Amino acid sequence: MNPIVMKFGGSSVENIEKMQAIAQRIQQKKTDGFDVVVVVSAMGKTTNQLLELARQASTNPSKREIDLLISTGEQVSISLLSMILNENGQSSIGLTGFQAGIKTSGLHTKNKIEDIDIEKVEKHLRDGKIVVVAGFQGLNQDGDITTLGRGGSDTTAVALGAKLNCRVEIYTDVEGIYGVDPRLYPNAKKIDMISYEEMKEMAFLGAKVMEPRSIEIGHRFAVEILVASAHQNTPGTLIKEFDPSMETKSITGLSISERVILVSINHLPSQSRHTADLFIKLAQNEINVDMISQTNTPDGFVNLAFTASSEDTHLINDVLTELQKKYDDVIISTDTNIVKVSVVGMAMRTQSGVAATLFELFAANDIDYKLITTSEISISYTISSALKEKAVHLIASAFNL
Ligand code: ASP
Ligand code: MG
Repeated sequence: MNPIVMKFGGSSVENIEKMQAIAQRIQQKKTDGFDVVVVVSAMGKTTNQLLELARQASTNPSKREIDLLISTGEQVSISLLSMILNENGQSSIGLTGFQAGIKTSGLHTKNKIEDIDIEKVEKHLRDGKIVVVAGFQGLNQDGDITTLGRGGSDTTAVALGAKLNCRVEIYTDVEGIYGVDPRLYPNAKKIDMISYEEMKEMAFLGAKVMEPRSIEIGHRFAVEILVASAHQNTPGTLIKEFDPSMETKSITGLSISERVILVSINHLPSQSRHTADLFIKLAQNEINVDMISQTNTPDGFVNLAFTASSEDTHLINDVLTELQKKYDDVIISTDTNIVKVSVVGMAMRTQSGVAATLFELFAANDIDYKLITTSEISISYTISSALKEKAVHLIASAFNL
């Protein structure tokens, strides 16, 4: 067999016309000699609309029922696309996640793929059919329909590629992965090849082109992933194992994460118990803390700052109100006019001076930052939202992104 997985997102299957257009591309792959598995998302903004209906139906709908509801979007796409292919004389079959053997586990609306019984898909491929699989969904041990988290069709596609041991092609609205979002920086250059590590870091740090977990699976099973335009025949970006032939710019990409809240807590009595209590409270409220910094003052206090998603602002404020009641002298402030700007590059592992260049760039251009965190291949800064564009332009032009 010569399998390949092609994935199309919601905007590529928005209406019948668009489905007819992608059907041509899919059939061409078949003509080129591939055994084609297609993964599709729900049509256009269907998933959002279904979630809106759930909101109208109930103030607190069960997650199981949400999964039952939002998984229907993909089922509409697979049946219509399969009909179109058959209408064109190309034998095709649509399969839900369950029918395609996708087994999941975990919390409803956030399931993970455990395994795929691939026999059925393979049998249809051997029969010469194009197999159209619903993205984003599976079945758990209890026999309930589950979903994989927003953007989860990417994960379905890459997991199928891992199981079939073949390349995965993700077709999108853009021509590939860019060093920086072209909407923020019109001169942005498309990247020809990028390593799993860099792509994963960029996706986690805010680049929206691919679902981060899908890259993780791709990395683990060494699945080559091509991200390319659904509309044009341009080369796209290949995500693969790092190799030295990849361009070694000191920075490969820049990501922005928009919805950030920065919390500063000053003059907290310096005892590790207090800090522990605060973070336990945050955890109990399922607040996902991102960056943290703490400094001790000579007179026995700590100054503490952290960031989290601004979607959790209400929950965070509740925790902070309690804290203020407990310690009279503590000074608390929050800021949601903040973005996190992150630069990513494998070269940071071996090259020094990336941080120095950025500090100099920010200093020379009056860009203040608050928290900074680093990983082996990235550096992140929180800066005021008002300075976002300026910072992006400076970094992108300094590092030729
Ligand atoms: N339809 C789902 C969503 O909107 C899955 C996907 O598009 O990947 O999140
Ligand atoms: Mg997507």
